[in-house]
Amino acid sequence: MTESRAAVFVEPGRSLEIQSFPVPAAVEPGAALCRVRMATICGSDLHTIFGRRQEPAPLILGHEIVGEIARLGPGLTRDGFGRPLRVGDRVSWSIMASCGDCYFCRLELPQKCCALRKYGHTTCTQAPHLTGGYAQHVYLFPGTAIYRIPAALADDIVTPANCALSTVIHAVEAIGVQPGENVLIQGAGLLGLNLVALCREAGAAAIHVTDISSPRLELARRFGADRCWNLAGDAAEDSVGRMLELTGGYGVDVAFEVCGAPQAAADAVRALRIGGRYLVAGLVTPGSDMALDGNQLTRKCLTLKGIHNYHPKHLGAAIDFLEHHAARYPYAELVGAVFPLEQIDRAVEAAATGRFVRVGVRPNLS
Ligand SMILES: [Zn+2]
Ligand SMILES: [Zn+2]
Repeated sequence: MTESRAAVFVEPGRSLEIQSFPVPAAVEPGAALCRVRMATICGSDLHTIFGRRQEPAPLILGHEIVGEIARLGPGLTRDGFGRPLRVGDRVSWSIMASCGDCYFCRLELPQKCCALRKYGHTTCTQAPHLTGGYAQHVYLFPGTAIYRIPAALADDIVTPANCALSTVIHAVEAIGVQPGENVLIQGAGLLGLNLVALCREAGAAAIHVTDISSPRLELARRFGADRCWNLAGDAAEDSVGRMLELTGGYGVDVAFEVCGAPQAAADAVRALRIGGRYLVAGLVTPGSDMALDGNQLTRKCLTLKGIHNYHPKHLGAAIDFLEHHAARYPYAELVGAVFPLEQIDRAVEAAATGRFVRVGVRPNLS
């Protein structure tokens, strides 16, 4: 195959355009070319398509991708686990490529690399063009962490793992969840659902989840949440008051913000016990003013921590987690509909309804 078809984002409010790009004939040292098996549509892709987020254009969107190695550049012989990597292997990879040598890479923050390149965020005007998932091929830059996928894990279970699951594995590592602790998770999107499973496996006592969507909360319940609180409408109970009652008046040990609503911080600060920990991972919109009461932060001796994206090792941990635990949770229901590349408009429409946690695109099936 010398040409690869891709769905290109040109400007907000306009349909993605199917265009063809040359498949790179050669692959540089440390790089790879992958044939895309599945890409899923993330909320951030929808934000770009509908003009709620500024991205460079034209652009091939899609960063949650599973592919097969089509070509390996010189020197790329092992995956992130240190296992041999060969043409034909089914793989997932980090959402970004890092240089490994700059100020932030040396500080073990490769997701903040000074020369960072993110899949689904780089314009397609220059070679190698193919840098997003809604295409038949993706070019993996040197400095991308690539992981072979165990045969038992289906594409639709593992495709979104390099975004949400890897990020919340980072979140749990950063703030810690101990056996017997009570947890509050603010948001039942894919970050929140994965967090429920991670906290369950970490031995959490009670897991409380808040959201404004009943179907999302229902799925959270089936992922193992003990208490689901719908904060929408007049029927909203005083969820924080109830959480305090249920913890003997002390409050929860750990809270996670994964809902994108800055006003959630006030609830978390109230719901946390003295000495509790708050991890913020969802406030990716500039100007997210949390209106935190500093007096509460001080007097309650709280720990406040932010994280953004993840270290490549967290993707390895995500694949491991799915291999050992996915069967116990409704992971198979996350991708609710799948479309070929030619029907990308229908895929975007389906994703925008919010009926599915993820919608998949299979660019090499038509
Ligand atoms: Zn994503
Ligand atoms: Zn770097």
